[in-house]
Amino acid sequence: MEIACLDLEGVLIPEVWINFAERTGIDELRATTRDIPDYDVLMRQRLNILQQHKLGLPDIQEVIDGMGPLEGAREFLDWLRERFQVVILSDTFYEFAAPLMRQLGHPALLCHKLSVDENGMVSDYHLRQKDPKRQAVKAFHGLNFRVIAAGDSYNDTTMLAEADRGILFRPPQNVIDEFPQFPAVFTYEDFRKAFIEASERDLTL
Ligand SMILES: [Mg+2]
Repeated sequence: MEIACLDLEGVLIPEVWINFAERTGIDELRATTRDIPDYDVLMRQRLNILQQHKLGLPDIQEVIDGMGPLEGAREFLDWLRERFQVVILSDTFYEFAAPLMRQLGHPALLCHKLSVDENGMVSDYHLRQKDPKRQAVKAFHGLNFRVIAAGDSYNDTTMLAEADRGILFRPPQNVIDEFPQFPAVFTYEDFRKAFIEASERDLTL
C-alpha cells in the first residue's frame, strides 16, 4: 500500500508570507529564514508586525483566500487523490491554510497551530513537533505504507530522504544541485508522470 505525502507551499499554493507581504504592501513580512535563521525570532517578528498593522486572523484569512492555489494544482491534487491516499505535510499553520484548503477540497493536512486572542489577533504559535515532515513519513512506515514524498525546498529534503521515493517540484537550482538523487519536475504533467514512475502499482494517466 502506498501513500503520497505532499508539501503545500510552492507545490500547491504560493509561498504564504511572501505573497501576503506583496498583497498587503508590508515589506517587512518578506523576511524568511534566509534573512533570520532563528525560526522563533522570525515568527515573533512576523506576529509583532501583524499586531502593529492591526491585522487580525479574519483580515489575514481574507488576504490568503484571495491568493488561490497555483494554476493547475487543484486538478493535479484531484488526480493524485484518485490514485493514492494523500496527506499534505506542511510547516504552515491550520488557521492560515484554511481558506486555501477549502479551495483544494479539504485534503488531509498535518501542520502547526496558532493561538488567537479574544480580539482576533494572533497571539502565539505552536509547532507540533521537530522535523515534523520526516516524523510523519516514519510514522506511515510504521503503519506499513510505502511512501512517495514530494516538495520544493530545503525543509522537504529530510522527508524526501525518509520516503521510499522522493520527487522535487519546481525546486531552486541550489536544491537541485545539492540533491541530485531526487528527480526534479517543473510542470504538473511531469509531476503526474513522476508519481506513476515512483509507484510500484500500475497507474494510468
Ligand atoms: Mg514548500
